[in-house]
Amino acid sequence: MAVVGSGPAGLYTAEALVKQTAQGADGSAAGVLVDVLDRLPTPYGLVRYGVAPDHPSIRSIADYLRRVLEHPQVRFLGGLRLGREVTREMLLACYDAVVYATGAPRDRSLGVSGEDLPGSAAAADFVRWYCGHPDADPAMFTLDARAVAVIGAGNVALDVSRMLARPAAGLDATDVPEPVLAALAASRVEEVHLVCRRGPAQARFTTKELRELGELPDVDITVPGLPPGALDPPAEEGAPLDRRVRGNLAVLAEWAGRSPQGAARRVSVRFWRRPAEILGTDRVTAVRLEQTAQDASGRVSGTGRFELLPVQLVLRSVGYRSVPLPGLPFDERRAVVPNADGRVLGADGRPLPGEYVVGWLKRGPTGVIGTNRPDAVQTVRALLADRAPGTPAHRADPAAPPLADQLAARGVRPVTYDDWLGIDAGEHAMAAALGRGDRVKLSGWDALDTASGHPHAGPGPGR
Ligand code: NAP
Repeated sequence: MAVVGSGPAGLYTAEALVKQTAQGADGSAAGVLVDVLDRLPTPYGLVRYGVAPDHPSIRSIADYLRRVLEHPQVRFLGGLRLGREVTREMLLACYDAVVYATGAPRDRSLGVSGEDLPGSAAAADFVRWYCGHPDADPAMFTLDARAVAVIGAGNVALDVSRMLARPAAGLDATDVPEPVLAALAASRVEEVHLVCRRGPAQARFTTKELRELGELPDVDITVPGLPPGALDPPAEEGAPLDRRVRGNLAVLAEWAGRSPQGAARRVSVRFWRRPAEILGTDRVTAVRLEQTAQDASGRVSGTGRFELLPVQLVLRSVGYRSVPLPGLPFDERRAVVPNADGRVLGADGRPLPGEYVVGWLKRGPTGVIGTNRPDAVQTVRALLADRAPGTPAHRADPAAPPLADQLAARGVRPVTYDDWLGIDAGEHAMAAALGRGDRVKLSGWDALDTASGHPHAGPGPGR
């Protein structure tokens, strides 16, 4: 079996394949071998390059996923891009089933003017930058802005707001790359405005993450401009109010009652505002916000009342988007691969034999990392049911050479798990040398090439 993508969705899939076949669910394929492919030379996807560095307990999910990768029936093959070094056709010829787990790598845009100005960026890029993703130039963010607007009311918006507001001193024990730590230490940011287009009860924050923002040292937090009663729990109609919403309202009510203490940095959470325009000539100087209101059907619309927020950096954090994979069907509207319980559906609505999806590519960019585990189990159940005795299943082409031989014939050497361990060891060694915690990320393709001992761990010329 092949799994494309070594993030949590891909690795939970590999785990489910090994476990469910060991339990004999497949009836025939006990001891299934799973190749996990990734375009990067490093495994763990968003656990490594999406989870904020000051969230070590979520990062430690990598320890669990490492055990999956080290299972004798699982093999890591890095540095392979679908449609470049490997094709869908090669995978279908070499494997009895292919599970796509490539996530949602693109950010969504706001669709307002000024969005392309220098100083306006995707929160996704900011996240990649502070996580040391090799695609992110370490010089990408200099943080010379005094005021920043973060647009969106989800957990990514909370992560980037917290990373902007927190003192850099607390980050030297984390794995942020050295140039990023230096930029955060030199940051001139004093004000972070978190701009939410709906109200406190509609925000998508989870309470634990919201609460953290108010616990940062030397940061004053305010919730300005709320109409009276906006933080009262809404009248319950039918179903009881979500625990998460109730928790968020309690946290926000506590913040609303705080008085500013003259802290070095200020965070303001601005509900019922949406960006109408990002202003500036050479770079961002302000964002024009329109106040919003919700009608009886729950639709948000502008009220025609505007205000100007002087900021020098705008980070849009309005969700992620999957991208089509070469040759695979794609629902452009929902930005997912059409599927039924993980079975990829063709244009006629029928399953394409041997092809499956998991994670954000299957269900859209929602849920926490743990959500991917039951999601993977569901897809693997469908995959194994399709292979039950008596059912016609896709089979690898017995005449096709193994993938490794096909790649070798094309001059491609995948990054192996041992190569990755070279990077892993290099990161531990860097932390020890700097006296900085357990790991410091190596940033940039060249550093990854050198540490892995692989001549070309990242994508080819032009990268
Ligand atoms: P999200 O939870 O879907 O939040 C996106 C936010 O963007 C929503 O508040 C949405 O508002 C707003 N939005 C969308 N379009 C907008 C527009 N045009 N203008 C203004 N606002 C707009 O997405 P996310 O924050 O990217 O997180 C993705 C997933 O990862 C979530 O499930 C999240 O919980 C998870 N995550 C978890 C953690 C953690 O557990 N620590 C950390 C990071 C991410 P509406 O609701 O009005 O559409």
